[in-house]
Amino acid sequence: MLNIIIFGPPGSGKGTQSAKIVEKYNLVHLSTGDLMREEIARDTPLGWEVKKYIDKGMLVPDEIIMRELYEKASEHLDAPGLIFDGFPRTIVQAEMLDQMLEKHKMPIDVVLSVDVSEEELFQRLMGRAEDSGRSDDTAEIVLHRIEVYKEQTLPLIEFYQKQGKIVSINGMSPVEEVFGKITTAVDTYLETREIIPAIE
Ligand code: ADP
Repeated sequence: MLNIIIFGPPGSGKGTQSAKIVEKYNLVHLSTGDLMREEIARDTPLGWEVKKYIDKGMLVPDEIIMRELYEKASEHLDAPGLIFDGFPRTIVQAEMLDQMLEKHKMPIDVVLSVDVSEEELFQRLMGRAEDSGRSDDTAEIVLHRIEVYKEQTLPLIEFYQKQGKIVSINGMSPVEEVFGKITTAVDTYLETREIIPAIE
């Protein structure tokens, strides 16, 4: 099994890269953002609840995220591997994920951290706002999402550095180039079980 976390601020291109990784390595894509947006689109009570947070650029409470993630992940325990996109986003989520994976003896192999400067993030998110149709892609909310990322999600870098699993990928280049760096990291891991700490 190959289990990957793709980690990065809003606008870093994790969603785009995840789709490409899924295709190349035949993994199952688990995006908590997509799970939440599906609930909203289906107009369920859970959707109404989580929309309140998402529209403000706040994180959805850990209990809700964990419940939905467990449910989705448990459908795919026999997959060739999983890629977690936009999850975990807090230390609590990361600890609970470790416990869940430990139980099934399927640890995280690699954590890809896609790095993009703050100016570039803001520009990209504002640029995509028009066609994304996402209610959380407005200037004020985007700035808030970036702040929330710095406060609540960035500490995860240290968490996974301690586990020796982080690969820092410079995400400031065209999609195909970033993907090239990612495949270098993943292929090296598959061949040697070694983690390259950073790819410029
Ligand atoms: P982005 O990375 O562009 O913010 P996502 O689709 O990953 O896009 O997340 C969109 C929103 O969904 C977040 O701002 C947050 O409100 C909610 N969300 C997604 N994943 C999580 C999570 N793991 N924990 C808490 N909230 C989440």
